[in-house]
Amino acid sequence: MSVILKGADVVKEMNEAMMAELALRTADGLAVPKLAIVRVGERPDDLAYERGAVKRFANIGLRTELYAFAAEISQEDFLAAFRQINADPDVHGILVFRPLAPQIDDRLVIEAIDPAKDVDGISPVNMAKIFAGDDSGFAPCTAAAVVAILDHAGISLKGKRVAVVGRSLVVGKPLSMLLLARDATVTLCHSKTLDLPAVCREADILVACVGKAKMLGVEYVRPGAVVIDVGINVDEEGNLWGDVDFTAVEGIAGAVTPVPGGVGTVTTSILARQLMKAAAKGR
Ligand code: NAP
Repeated sequence: MSVILKGADVVKEMNEAMMAELALRTADGLAVPKLAIVRVGERPDDLAYERGAVKRFANIGLRTELYAFAAEISQEDFLAAFRQINADPDVHGILVFRPLAPQIDDRLVIEAIDPAKDVDGISPVNMAKIFAGDDSGFAPCTAAAVVAILDHAGISLKGKRVAVVGRSLVVGKPLSMLLLARDATVTLCHSKTLDLPAVCREADILVACVGKAKMLGVEYVRPGAVVIDVGINVDEEGNLWGDVDFTAVEGIAGAVTPVPGGVGTVTTSILARQLMKAAAKGR
């Protein structure tokens, strides 16, 4: 049987480490780090993530403050409010739900966000740091969550062949760079990759970030390989499915992450850890 790489185990270890660090920080008289959550409108996905983040941050002892704006706010008014949040010395990190709204150009916010508070890793400065192999910035949380799961399981990346399926700027591309920085040999696959199953079967570690429910079945997995499933796909009944056909792959893979309960579970803890890092840099 495959080892099931549960996100909850990673979260427990990360949260304990953060609580210990927070205790030291407050003992030194430093402010409890605060995350500003910026939302326009009331998209159900945003609200669900927000509820999870607020609860998780409170459990660790971190502060969150919600800045919710009406769906019809003008771009000018939103940017003015955003600049104030960005400049507030009591805000250590910012999470912005995107897309914001049809009348607001997301790029203006991505360019305006202070890279030192960009704990969700959206600014071009942080993206450039990831590509330069400079770990002083902030990675997109999902990409960092994949690395955290591998680290927690004690799976070394050095010299390993890793296939990443999906090349988005939020997951696949930055993840490839994080894996490369750990000396993995990375193959970044996409919808035009020829004979994708054969390419994936070469991999010691296979990461699926495609957005297609149960697309990767046994023909993609070398026996014994580690399979990390980033996919979150919701069917008409509201069930969550990964990009990997978990039932088929379990038993063939050496280890596999479940959906739900895998990568997605770790993402908020990465956000919290990046907030701690932002605060530690003196803000
Ligand atoms: P995306 O922007 O839609 O990108 C999907 C990628 O998959 C693209 O690069 C696309 O290739 C590739 N692709 C699509 N169909 C393919 C096929 N048949 N064969 C090979 N490659 C194919 O998606 P995303 O934002 O990266 O998200 C990917 C998945 O991760 C989604 O299920 C999303 O819900 C999930 N996700 C999870 C978390 C989390 O916290 N766990 C966070 C973010 C996203 P092309 O570039 O050639 O079009």
